[in-house]
Amino acid sequence: MEMLDSFRHKGMRQRLVQELVRKNITDNKVLEAIGRVPRHLFLDSSFVSFAYQDKAFPIAAGQTISQPYTVALQSQLLNISAGEKVLEVGTGSGYQAAVLIEMGVKLFSIERQKELFTRSTHLLKQIGYSGRFFLGDGYEGLSSFAPFDKVIVTAGAPFLPEKLLLQMKIGGIMVIPLGDKKQVMTRITRLSEDDFEQEQIGECAFVPMLKGTVN
Ligand code: SAH
Repeated sequence: MEMLDSFRHKGMRQRLVQELVRKNITDNKVLEAIGRVPRHLFLDSSFVSFAYQDKAFPIAAGQTISQPYTVALQSQLLNISAGEKVLEVGTGSGYQAAVLIEMGVKLFSIERQKELFTRSTHLLKQIGYSGRFFLGDGYEGLSSFAPFDKVIVTAGAPFLPEKLLLQMKIGGIMVIPLGDKKQVMTRITRLSEDDFEQEQIGECAFVPMLKGTVN
């Protein structure tokens, strides 16, 4: 695969960052990470020219790479500090994972489709992003690595997955698109063992969070 990151790519990326600033992304750590991650490597090579438009795009296995604005918004809502343990549900293309790793987190990511899991794990390793990647059902979380500081769900969840809530630290944050056909971006903060605060951010549209795994 062509792994080139040229001046042209860097220029397009800076324009994308400026567009995200205009759309009110204010967390500099997020903007810097998006400015560094070569998004064009996460799309099929014939679609490189789409990589730095602020649009979602189809990837393998009927899934999508999230729109840069969505990646930026979810990352910003997580209020990330370097060194935090973050659980991602829905590795997909691996792009959101790369942005979080670029921000200095210890990333754990689960994907239910083997094809995407294999591809994305390989790609991220190739471009030098290290995290822990798992083929599995995100509804189950990763109990053996819990608790997490932050949880990010990148598929539309019809309801709040209880196991994920219980794998958060007290003070931890989950950002999750909640709803069936359309979703509402929702931020959950764990205030105590039993108390969770819920904030609704705005409407969004994701591919569905489904149970089980696909080979
Ligand atoms: N974060 C990804 C977004 C991919 S789209 C990116 O940056 O490209 C959502 C992904 O969630 C798809 O790959 C889909 O297969 C996966 N997914 C859906 N339900 C899941 C589940 N229960 N567990 C793990 N992954 C899931």
